[in-house]
Amino acid sequence: MHQIRVPQIRIRQVNHQPLNSSGRYVLYWMIAARRTGWNFALQRAVEQSLELNRPLVILETLSCDYPYASDRLHRFILDGMADNCKALTGKPVRYYPFISRGKEDDRGLLAAFAKSSCLVVTDDAPAFITPKLIEAAAKILSVPVEAVDGNGLLPMRLAEKVYPTAYAFRRFLQKHLPLFLCTPPRPDPLAGAELLAPPTLDPHIIERWPEADCATLNAPSTLARLPIDHNVQTISLTGGADAAHCRMGDFIRNKLVRYAALRNHPDQEATSGLSPYLHFGHISTHIIFTAISDWEGWTPDRLGHKSAGQRAGWWGMSENAEAFLDQLVTWRELGFNRCVFEAHDAGYQSLPEWARNTLQSHTIDPRPYLYSLPQFASGQTHDPLWNAAQNQLRTEGMIHNYLRMLWGKKILEWSPTPQAALQTMVELNDRYALDGRDPNSYSGILWCLGRYDRPWGPARPIFGSVRYMSSENTRRKLRLTNYLQRYE
Ligand SMILES: Cc1cc2nc3c(=O)[nH]c(=O)nc-3n(C[C@H](O)[C@H](O)[C@H](O)COP(=O)(O)OP(=O)(O)OC[C@H]3O[C@@H](n4cnc5c(N)ncnc54)[C@H](O)[C@@H]3O)c2cc1C
Repeated sequence: MHQIRVPQIRIRQVNHQPLNSSGRYVLYWMIAARRTGWNFALQRAVEQSLELNRPLVILETLSCDYPYASDRLHRFILDGMADNCKALTGKPVRYYPFISRGKEDDRGLLAAFAKSSCLVVTDDAPAFITPKLIEAAAKILSVPVEAVDGNGLLPMRLAEKVYPTAYAFRRFLQKHLPLFLCTPPRPDPLAGAELLAPPTLDPHIIERWPEADCATLNAPSTLARLPIDHNVQTISLTGGADAAHCRMGDFIRNKLVRYAALRNHPDQEATSGLSPYLHFGHISTHIIFTAISDWEGWTPDRLGHKSAGQRAGWWGMSENAEAFLDQLVTWRELGFNRCVFEAHDAGYQSLPEWARNTLQSHTIDPRPYLYSLPQFASGQTHDPLWNAAQNQLRTEGMIHNYLRMLWGKKILEWSPTPQAALQTMVELNDRYALDGRDPNSYSGILWCLGRYDRPWGPARPIFGSVRYMSSENTRRKLRLTNYLQRYE
């Protein structure tokens, strides 16, 4: 079988342990790219299994003691695990879904699985708790740990530095992307792979950490007995790869045609709604890019030759597809770029110097309104539009992109300091947003405070030269009638 292999630049050796040549299998520890197709880490695990002539075990874990673990997040992840169960049934791998039933219930689980493995392959992801999880695993395990980057079209470690603006990053993308568009992950890494029959697992593992039952994975009773936040409730959106693919198809067929003109109007519902699926790894950017290219009848020879960082025209696609790809690729991968090279979260120090200076010099400005975290959380400000956005976040786990910007700007205006505003935004977004705890959560929030932006004049109270947004203007500019009716 001759296949293009996972590019080396996507594979990070996290420790330097020797290969365990007496290991009985290759272990893929699925923690971020929670899907079976278009998955570089799974593809790498298959490559290693074939090369070492060992069967493959896939361990997908769901812990309950990470910050913000709630019914909402768990349900979405469990939907994905149910899809993975279905997709891997009858395949030549041993899929082992595990749900922690109590704090620290999973302690020792990975080590027990890894003990009989030749090496561990896992997903690389640069934000929230995942980097720490990977580092901790690499420290305690006595087998090699490889973290594989399937996050974006461009390998995230290619850049070697942090880009300060979307324009500068776009130029970099335009220069390097053509090479990497030719090496997408395989749609089905298991197809045609002649893997050895799945191994039997150590009975001690099965007894101590019982496998989740695929049939009841996403039943309501599964959530009820877990020690997670039951106040952040489930929403009607189904998680998982199947739902993600349906949503992508619907977007391309019915909404893409209006994307450039109407994406900012909440009433028009012209965006994809794919961010939660991207966040939980239920869908890959590569399949979205491929589906859009197919829809457009696009071929790589249409790519522009000049990498001048221009927002439109470089891809050689329709205006709508280009506008969408600028979000999906430039803006999304810009967030990953910051998290890889600067910080895994939203540190205030990430703001450019001009923004910190201007915000600092306006810290003493009087605030016409000041709200506490509980007031913000329950949407009890004087501003009905802001409250509507927060209600959408609290009840549906999402805010429309344009209103998300306004939401953040107003938190800055109504908080005692910019540092307090940053904390409030992160707390609310990470707790309630399905797509929160993501590199784009932190880049979006930092954008509200000046990151990736430039100074704007004239200087205003509280904001200084950080870009200002007003609810009155937003109401004038956007179509919001239905939105307000629904969430006010
Ligand atoms: C204060 C604030 C907080 C944010 N928090 C998050 C978050 O927690 N998680 C998150 O994924 N995005 C976040 N964003 C970015 C953006 O709002 C969402 O990605 C977008 O609204 C998701 O909706 P969609 O999938 O319909 O986007 P679409 O318009 O359909 O875009 C497709 C994809 O492109 C990416 N994308 C779109 N807009 C942006 C953007 N401005 N920056 C980076 N990537 C983008 C997303 O992955 C999105 O799914 C935040 C923005 C702000 C201003």
